[in-house]
Amino acid sequence: MMNDQLSQALNDQMNFEFYSAHVYLAIAAYCSGESLDGFANFFIVQAEEERFHAMKMYKYLNDRGKRVTLIGMSTPNNEYSSILDAFQHAYQHEQEVTKRIYHLSDLAMNDREHATIQFLKWFIDEQVEEESMFDSIINKLKRIDTDSNAFFMLDNEFAQRTFVPPTTA
Ligand code: MG
Repeated sequence: MMNDQLSQALNDQMNFEFYSAHVYLAIAAYCSGESLDGFANFFIVQAEEERFHAMKMYKYLNDRGKRVTLIGMSTPNNEYSSILDAFQHAYQHEQEVTKRIYHLSDLAMNDREHATIQFLKWFIDEQVEEESMFDSIINKLKRIDTDSNAFFMLDNEFAQRTFVPPTTA
């Protein structure tokens, strides 16, 4: 049986994943405001991914006989100075998520809660992907000028991104 401290921490993280969707949708809105529809699409898909993460935790808590509770969300940052600034903000946000997932994993390990340790492995792997993705986009953006063809090609590339729910786990 999972202890209350661990289930509360999982519930907190579920809420933080919903908040992450909110953060990314606000970035999408900023991009739309700048008429960068490809970048906006990228963050709309990112928001969908975050909602999927939250629902994964929602289902897990239910499966473990725990009552899920939702909390109110704080206002996300709606203004950015540039696309690079928005991606840097997103990268920092993902680093915060990783820290939180590690903390959850520590709690599960301290409690020898093997099912939860296993459940969190998926999120640990996912965070490696998320951080690497944002880091590489930031590096690209730093290399290209925002008025260049390369910048608009990137916007075009991101217009193609679609949300594909992971089939494993
Ligand atoms: Mg997430």
